[in-house]
This record gives sequence, C-alpha cells and structure tokens, in this order.
Amino acid sequence: MTGYLTTPLPRRPSVGVNVGGVVVGGDAPVVVQSMTNTDTADVDSTVAQVAALHRAGSELVRITVDRDESAAAVPKIRDRLARLGIDVPLIGDFHYIGHKLLADHPGCAEALAKYRINPGNVGFREKRDRQFGAIVETAIRHDKPVRIGVNWGSLDQELLTRLMDENQAKGSPLTAAEVMREAIVQSALISAELAEEIGLPRDRIILSAKVSQVQDLIAVYAELARRSDHALHLGLTEAGMGTKGIVASSAAMGILLQQGVGDTIRISLTPEPGGDRTREVQVAQELLQTMGFRQFVPVVAACPGCGRTTSTVFQELAQKIQEDLRRNMPVWRDRYPGVEELKVAVMGCIVNGPGESKHADIGISLPGTGETPSAPVFIDGRKAATLRGAGIAEEFEKMVADYVER
Ligand code: SF4
Repeated sequence: MTGYLTTPLPRRPSVGVNVGGVVVGGDAPVVVQSMTNTDTADVDSTVAQVAALHRAGSELVRITVDRDESAAAVPKIRDRLARLGIDVPLIGDFHYIGHKLLADHPGCAEALAKYRINPGNVGFREKRDRQFGAIVETAIRHDKPVRIGVNWGSLDQELLTRLMDENQAKGSPLTAAEVMREAIVQSALISAELAEEIGLPRDRIILSAKVSQVQDLIAVYAELARRSDHALHLGLTEAGMGTKGIVASSAAMGILLQQGVGDTIRISLTPEPGGDRTREVQVAQELLQTMGFRQFVPVVAACPGCGRTTSTVFQELAQKIQEDLRRNMPVWRDRYPGVEELKVAVMGCIVNGPGESKHADIGISLPGTGETPSAPVFIDGRKAATLRGAGIAEEFEKMVADYVER
C-alpha cells in the first residue's frame, strides 16, 4: 500500500528576519500580520485599530505612511501603544516618497520595526536606484529590516517592457501572462540584490510578490521560493470582499503553505462598509490552524445540522461558545498555557453527537427532533452530566469555563 499524502512538505529553508522581536522565516512559525485602514495621521483611530488587530492576534501590524502628517504621527502612535502595554511591531508602508519621508522624519524611521518598499513606484532608472538606495541606507542606519513588496498593479514597467521585447525577439516562447510573472519575480530578486549590494544583510530582507489571481500567485511564489532563500511574505492582493476574498486567499495560500512556502501571511479582505477589520486576522489564524501549522484558539467542532435539528438552540450555542472562547483568549492564553489546544464539540443530535463529543475535551450532544429533551455532556471522553430544561446552553457554557480553569 502506498503512503497517504497527509502531511505538508517540509518548510522551505529561508533566512530568518527579526522584525521588532518577531522572527519571520528560518525556524519560526508562520507569522500572522494585518494592516490598518485608518488615516495614520489620525493618531486616536490608528492606535485603536492597531490595538484591536493585535488583540485579535495580529503579530505584526502595517500602517500607511504616505505624507508628512502620517510620518509625524508614527512615533506618537508607538508611544500611545506602549502606554497601553501593546508592543506589537509596526511596519511602515511606503510608496513614491518613502525615501523623503524617512529622511525628514527620523523619529518615524526609528519607531517603525520594518519598512515596506514597493520597487515599482520609487521612480525610474537612476532615480529609482537612488531613491530605493536611500530607503535601504536609512534601514541600515536604523538597523531595521525591509520588505521588498512587488505588486503587479504597480509593477516596474521598464522591466516588463524589456522582458516583453526579449520574449518577442525570441519568437514569443512565453505567453504574456508568463512574461508578467517573470517580471514580478525578477523585480523582487533584482531589488533584493541591489539592497544587499548597498549593504543590507540578507537577514534584514523579506520579499513579497502579490498578484490578484490565485494561479498567478501560486506560480510566482513557487518560482520566487525556488530562486531565493529570502523569507517570504504571502498575500493575495485585491482578494475581494466576503466569501470570495476568503476562499481565494485560502486556496492560494493554502497550496503554497502545503508546499512549504511562506513565512508570514496577510489576508487582504475588502471590509464591508463599517465592517470589522479584525476579520482578516481571524481568517489568517483559521487558515493556519485548520491546516495544522499553528494553534491559536480552541477548536469548536459543530455538525452542520439537518432535518433532525428543528430548533436553533444548537446553532446559537455553537456560535456563542466559539465567540466566548475567542473573546477570552487574550486573557486565557497567559493564564492557562496550552488552552488553545482545547477541543469543544457542540452536536445537534445522537446520530454523531456522543461519538464526536467523546473525541473532544468537552462536548455536548443536544436533543434532536423527537429525542428525549436531555443533553449528555462528555468530558475527557466520559459522560459527565446530563443537562435538561431551558438553561442547557448557559449550563454548558459554564462547564466549558470551569473545564478551562481546571
Ligand atoms: Fe444532523 Fe445529528 Fe448529524 Fe447533526 S449530528 S448533522 S443533527 S444527524
């Protein structure tokens, strides 16, 4: 009998980069990061959102630094977060004038834990090299890492045109899409080479090459992984809203992670108007957890329900337990080491309820249609109680909390 393909490929070896105390790459676990959508010049809103993203589990948070006012706000944001006891590393996202902002605002350059540079929009030819070089030199002076973040929406047009012309001169062996992928990969690698020539060590460089199509992303990162040992930041750009964004990001990054590629991930979701920004952190955690790479929150196993579950008690309880566990995690994580390994089952009837509940640390099998109105609770594989009456949900929630404390 041949072996089952049940485990991911070994992690691709990469050079670890220390980003303000959080290591990306090397032997470190895949890091979850996110980005604010507040105006960075608005210190109050940005501090509140960084704090919320960090509380949700974001290990690095990126903020836009697009003008003098936002660069001036960065040290204030850093100080305010420190006063709140939040020491999440902040990453500055620079485009066009990053070299100037960093030079004019040394306090910003120092407060940030990493600079993101987009080599596609720092100028053309000599000017590009000069301005890119200025950011790298600032990073060297302040002992900061950089992410060279190529994005297909702002790809170096000069490089793309050159590769297109070369391809045409050879009789067009590559399709236009393949030339575009090659330009993205080359843009990242050439820029990394330039940064190293200027003096930035390899353990201060992270690469990313974001595109918006799943197959392009997989192809580009597989090639980047093959041709370099830099730590890689994965992200599907413009992934979209709601389920579309979640599915597209998970499909693309899930495949790459399974192949051992990727050292930090960001799920770029377009939030619903007024929507919760922390959702992208939750999805990133769920992706890593569901694939077995990391454990962030206790798992709640719940059946999908069917014609045997005519009341909504079971769905409401499953949702409530999941929300309670996630809300309590920031406190529980410190107080009860290993709590994230907990498995809770909330099942709709006796068909699979007792079996699934016995496999969990603590589980409940609610009464389905026509069953006796009682709910057996299993703890560590054994029946521990039978709950009855209108207070089943509240009693089970209390039993879960007691179990955690025990
Ligand atoms: Fe339906 Fe019961 Fe299976 Fe849940 S456990 S899906 S309620 S048969």
